[in-house]
Amino acid sequence: MINQLLNQLDIYTHANQSEIAAVMGGNTRLKGEGEKLQVYSPIDGSPVATINMASKAQVDQAIQRASEAFIKIRTIPAPKRGDFVRVLGNLFRERKLQLAELITLECGKILQESLGEVQEVIDICDFAVGLSRQLHGLTIVSERPNHRMMEQWHPLGPVVVISAFNFPMAVWAWNTMLAIVCGDTVIWKPSEKTPLCALACQRLIDESLNHFPEFPCALSQVVVGDYSVGEQLSRDSRIPLVSATGSVPMGIKVAKAVSARLGRSLLELGGNNAMIVSASAEIELALRAIVFSAVGTCGQRCTTLRRLIVHERIADDLAARLKVTYEGLPIGDPNNPATLVGPLIDRQAFNLMQSAITEAKQAGGRLICGGERVIFADKENGFYVRPAIIEIDSLADVAKQETFAPILYLIRYHVFSDAIAIHNAVPQGLSSAIFTTDLREAELFLSVTGSDCGLANVNIGTSGAEIGGAFGGEKETGGGRESGSDAWKNYMRRTTNTINFGNDIPLAQGITFG
Ligand code: NAD
Repeated sequence: MINQLLNQLDIYTHANQSEIAAVMGGNTRLKGEGEKLQVYSPIDGSPVATINMASKAQVDQAIQRASEAFIKIRTIPAPKRGDFVRVLGNLFRERKLQLAELITLECGKILQESLGEVQEVIDICDFAVGLSRQLHGLTIVSERPNHRMMEQWHPLGPVVVISAFNFPMAVWAWNTMLAIVCGDTVIWKPSEKTPLCALACQRLIDESLNHFPEFPCALSQVVVGDYSVGEQLSRDSRIPLVSATGSVPMGIKVAKAVSARLGRSLLELGGNNAMIVSASAEIELALRAIVFSAVGTCGQRCTTLRRLIVHERIADDLAARLKVTYEGLPIGDPNNPATLVGPLIDRQAFNLMQSAITEAKQAGGRLICGGERVIFADKENGFYVRPAIIEIDSLADVAKQETFAPILYLIRYHVFSDAIAIHNAVPQGLSSAIFTTDLREAELFLSVTGSDCGLANVNIGTSGAEIGGAFGGEKETGGGRESGSDAWKNYMRRTTNTINFGNDIPLAQGITFG
């Protein structure tokens, strides 16, 4: 089944049809000259593919190609670049199921969520097509007679996208579709845990390029490698923008490397997302939102619900209902349509989950349910777990960290102002939610004194954002915004122009000179 899928994907080098490429883009499909990378499926821990990673020299050449391609793509009109993205989006539509199956194989998401991820790629393509006719600037009145001011947005240059394992296609698409219509070229360094998803996406880019002979071949490229490839790309001053999605420690390193050369970084890092459930909440609605947000993708979404801040009057009832729901959760093979919780990505993720549970107990936490490994005879090397709920004090250190696994910390509150204070008292600031039917609580939560996150929702969960809004978070989450709204401005450079159509040279601020 795996071999059949890999053959259908056609991600081999030009030189050898059994060697998976590590550098791919347009007419380039090269074997890596770096170390070997073994790719495993989290479903059963079995090896899926072996790839030689890109070497330093190969990464350098990819940057060179991207720089040369930029000179060409920047002059092709944006609506034409939008046409390209339309063709690409249609290929994603046609291959949706096959691509979703690959996500499930390589990253372990249940098939429904993988289909949702490919749909997200399709949606951002549609968004980018429309955007390609809307890259607009302002006109501004001038203080000087017979003068006019305006802003223009120009293409920026080659953009690097570094992505995490848990959204192996969507994060790339959020960045790349916008970057392409903005007139940039792209180099993608995918997670070393999910390189096949990246190569499959690149194949579709290459296929779309066949319809656009005037486009440069190196419009978008993939380089397969580990953190060291990410470091090399971050340091290179030919790259004006590095968009990096992943953990906070990774983001700090990327930010340092990029800022040392005064480049721009766009950071989408870890979250520690919370939901306040007030005494007036509709509990049945809240329950459904909590479960999807907390256990979807086996707790491995950046927007996963990690802290549930519940009014003390309803806390026991909500905990009891959650326990019943959690104990009935279907855990298992992510390809089985009945499964709701698939595997963790690997053993390391499982070990981190166990350490967090131990630390929580040592900090006085009470395990309400779950936390244990679930072993299937035919998947002994897959790391399946029963999602955990732990009641804990909001001050416990472990509840302030992001453990990338399905652990939900339940925290009680007495008065609403305490709930907001607890909510904001963590270093991360990505996604947040409140369940309430009290208008004042809802508005306060959204107000300047409420949630300090980039995403704040009322009566829906913390995960499952739509592409139309800007996505990202504050504090340690990195401050970046991607996807919808005006996130496209990240991928362009702004020029402010002043035009004199008079016969004099008046100076601004009333200065007389000479
Ligand atoms: P990770 O930080 O281990 O790796 C992410 C990517 O960074 C990989 O491609 C990796 O090779 C690369 N990398 C690692 N060190 C680097 C360095 N020094 N320089 C350049 N690149 C480097 O993250 P992960 O385990 O793949 O993903 C999980 C994390 O990602 C979680 O913290 C999650 O919250 C976060 N995440 C955030 C968002 C968001 O939009 N905010 C989305 C998805 C995931």
